[in-house]
Order: sequence, then structure tokens, then C-alpha cells
Amino acid sequence: MKKRVFSGIQPSGEIHIGNYLGAIKQWIEIQEKYNCIYGIVDYHSMTVKYNTDELKKKVIDAAVTYLSAGLDPERSHLMVQSQVPEHTELTWILNTVTPMSWCERVPTFKQKKIQNEKNVNMGLFDYPVLMTADIIIYKAEFVPVGKDQLPHLELAREITRKFNSTFGEIFPEPKPIISVGALIIGLDGKQKMSKSIGNCIYMADSNDVIRKKLATAVTDTRRVKKTDPGVPSDCNIFSLHKILSKKDEIESCSEGCLKASIGCFDCKKILANNLIDELEPFKEKKSYWDNNIEKVKEILNEGGKQARSIAKDTMEQVREKVGLWKF
Ligand code: ATP
Ligand code: MG
Repeated sequence: MKKRVFSGIQPSGEIHIGNYLGAIKQWIEIQEKYNCIYGIVDYHSMTVKYNTDELKKKVIDAAVTYLSAGLDPERSHLMVQSQVPEHTELTWILNTVTPMSWCERVPTFKQKKIQNEKNVNMGLFDYPVLMTADIIIYKAEFVPVGKDQLPHLELAREITRKFNSTFGEIFPEPKPIISVGALIIGLDGKQKMSKSIGNCIYMADSNDVIRKKLATAVTDTRRVKKTDPGVPSDCNIFSLHKILSKKDEIESCSEGCLKASIGCFDCKKILANNLIDELEPFKEKKSYWDNNIEKVKEILNEGGKQARSIAKDTMEQVREKVGLWKF
């Protein structure tokens, strides 16, 4: 039996190349090896202010993005979190074994508290517990995520251990799978690329927009003029080269930057071409899925059904273990 994988992305905005290089690209690569369930985690996106009229559309947009990136519905289950309400039932039970202090120390909570100071709700606080339920309800052993999610996953492991030691072993402790693009920095060169910050190159950006966005992206700030040498390891553009460019291009850009024989403009041009090439198959598939939305909905319905049947089995075991009424 193949081991199970779960991972999800919030439908909180357009999917960017950080999501792609940090998470989705791996999702696609490991589909053969593992039994994968990939979720559009809409309950999570309700923890910050959102537009109720737009949520369903964002869910479909996310599904189109995953399918266009290469998610194969024959091999993996693609589902919407709220199709499987057992996620929230398990969250409640996990809440009862999770000390509040564990959630208080999560870095994302501290950061989102500042970003949403007028709306620090219970859902925002409880986010890592729901994330734990998302994973362990499928008894997933692996979770392909970006580096920003590692503290959440560490907490998920702690909560899982606490449940198992309190009520009896049911769940495996989920482990991360981290990719080479585990932390993509935004165009500002400072913060991680993030839907909620907006410092992003989106997967669906046109080639023109990609070139324009890269042209304005922050590089090593030592390079004021073309003749100023720079330090590639301090440049966000170079970190993208390392993921997207060919070996000889990486070497010549690094050397050219150190010796000031190549300017940031030319260095960015090489990167833009490689990023555009990387996204080309995605864009081709996207134009197909954009015109086949009914098929996308069928895939979600089927994926949700399959996922729910696994989740229901798990909840039966959980209810028995925690001593809830059997009806
Ligand atoms: P939000 O700002 O709404 O939190 P986000 O851009 O952080 O959105 P998420 O939906 O929270 O995206 O994350 C989805 C997946 O993408 C997670 O596995 C996360 O680790 C990964 N990811 C998000 N941003 C990056 C990034 N900048 N670099 C690498 N991986 C990332
Ligand atoms: Mg996030």
C-alpha cells in the first residue's frame, strides 16, 4: 500500500510562484509514489476578512490552477475542505487536548494578528489545530509544504502525539516534505511571497507582466549602478535563478554580479525567460480547464466523496476512542 500524503492551499487569492515552487510542484512530482489528497482549504480562508460572493469562484480558480499545474485526478484526490465537515468535528476534539499556549507561540499567528488587528478571531488562533485535523483525518504520513508551514507541522506532530497518548494510538505523526523552492521571497526582496501581502508573481500572469514585475523587483541593494559589484547570495533574483535557471547561466550570473560585468537588468532578463518557459505548459493546460469548468466541478465532487469516506472511517474510530455516544 502506498503511503498517504495530504496538503492544502487556501483559496485566499491567486496562486503565486511561491505556492508553486514551494508546494504545488512537489505535489505533482510525488503523485506516482504516494496516495495523495490535495485540498482547497476554504474553512481556513474564513479566518480573515473575505468576500462571501467571491469564495466559490476562488475555490474553482484554485482547482483550475492545480489541474493546470499537472494534478492528475486519476491518481490523486482533489477536494474542497468544506465538502468534508468531519475536518471540523475532529478539530473540536483536538482542541480539547491542545493547550492554548501551544497555539499562542505559532509565528504565523503572531504575524497574522498584526496584519488583521481588528479581527483576531478564534479561527485565526485555532488555525494550526484545524490544519492538524486536515492532515491526520486521512492518516497522512507526509505533507509537502513550504518552509513557512514547518512550525505548524511541528505543532501538528505534538497535537497528534498528545491525542495518541491520551486516547490511544490511531494516528501516524505527519512529516514534512520540503522542496528546493521552500521559501520564495516576494518582489519586495524582504518578506516571503504571500497572497495576503500581494508581493507576488502569479502563475497566471502574462509574459509581459512577468517581465515588468521582475524588472522592478528588489535586488542586492549594494548595486546602485551597473558598475557596482554585488553579492549574489544577498539577492532574491539570484535565489530564483538557482531554482529556475540552467547550471551555466547560474554560474555566469553569479560571476557577472560579483565582477559587475552583468547588470541586474540583463540578469533579470535571463530569469524572466526561464520562468516564462517553466510556466508555459501550465498556461496551455489552463486555457483547456478554463473552458471546462463543469469537468472541474465533477472532479471536485468525486474527490470530495472519496475523501469523505476515508474521513468518516477515521471519525468512527476517533468517536469510539474518546467515548462519544454511538448512534
Ligand atoms: P496567505 O498569505 O493567505 O497565508 P500564502 O501565499 O501564504 O497565503 P498559503 O495558502 O498559506 O499561501 O500556502 C499554501 C502552500 O504554499 C503552503 O504549503 C505554503 O508553505 C506554500 N507557500 C506559501 N508561500 C510560500 C513561499 N513564499 N515560498 C514557498 N512556499 C510557500
Ligand atoms: Mg500562508
